[in-house]
Amino acid sequence: MISEVRPGVFWVHPPAGGEMYVVKTTAGLVLVDSGFFEHRELILDDLRQAGLDPREIALAFITHAHCDHIGGMGWWQQEFGVPVVAHMHAADPIEQADRIVTAAELPFANISSALLPCPVAHRVQGGETFTVGERSFEVIYAPGHTIGSIHILSGQELFVGDTVYANGGIGWVDIHWGSNPEDYVETLERMRKFLGKLALAGHGEPYELLMHHIEQAKSFASFYILPAHGFGMPRVPSAY
Ligand SMILES: [Zn+2]
Ligand SMILES: [Zn+2]
Repeated sequence: MISEVRPGVFWVHPPAGGEMYVVKTTAGLVLVDSGFFEHRELILDDLRQAGLDPREIALAFITHAHCDHIGGMGWWQQEFGVPVVAHMHAADPIEQADRIVTAAELPFANISSALLPCPVAHRVQGGETFTVGERSFEVIYAPGHTIGSIHILSGQELFVGDTVYANGGIGWVDIHWGSNPEDYVETLERMRKFLGKLALAGHGEPYELLMHHIEQAKSFASFYILPAHGFGMPRVPSAY
C-alpha cells in the first residue's frame, strides 16, 4: 500500500514490518529505509503504481540497522545503484549483513529474515546536510533504540525511525543492537524542538509530533534504566 501523505512525500506500508518513505524531488527520488527483503517486489509494484520510477532513486537514508528497515536495501542498491547513507555505528552491520545486530535472526520471535550485504556510501555522525533538487535532508544523531540511529529532517517532515510511534510507543530495547535507555530519554528530550512537524515513523502511520508523544515514549524508555543496571546487564557505552 502506498499513499502520498504530503505533496511529494510517499508512505509505503508493507504488509508487515518497517515502513518505507519516498520523497520526490526535482533531482530524483530519495528513500528512507527499505522494508524487509521479502517485500521488495511488492514495494516495487507500489512505487510503479504511484508513478515513481525506481531508476530515478538518487539517494537512500537508513534510519537504523534493523532488518525490517534495511532488509531490502542491499537489493535496491544492487538493482538501481543507490548510494546509501547510514550512521557510522550502523554502517558495519549493514555492510556485513550481521544477522545478530540487525535482528535478522530472532528465533524466539520467529524471525529469520533474508539480508543482503549493502555498501554504505556515506557514513555520517549527525549534523550533515544532503541536498537533492529543491530539498535538503539534515541528519540528526538519535541514539537510544540502537547506537546507530538517526533522524532525518526535511522541511516540515521528520523521519524518526523506531524512536517514537504515533501511539507514543518505542522500539525494542536490547543490548544486542546497542540500545541505551539513558541516551533514548535524551534523544526524546531533544525532539521537543520539532513539535508540530510531521513525524514519519518506522512502524505505523505518520502523525503530528506533539508533547504527549514525547512524554509517553520517555516513560517507556525510562522503564529500562533501572532493570538494565539492577539485574546486572552491562550498560552499552553511550555514543556521546
Ligand atoms: Zn522497526
Ligand atoms: Zn528497530
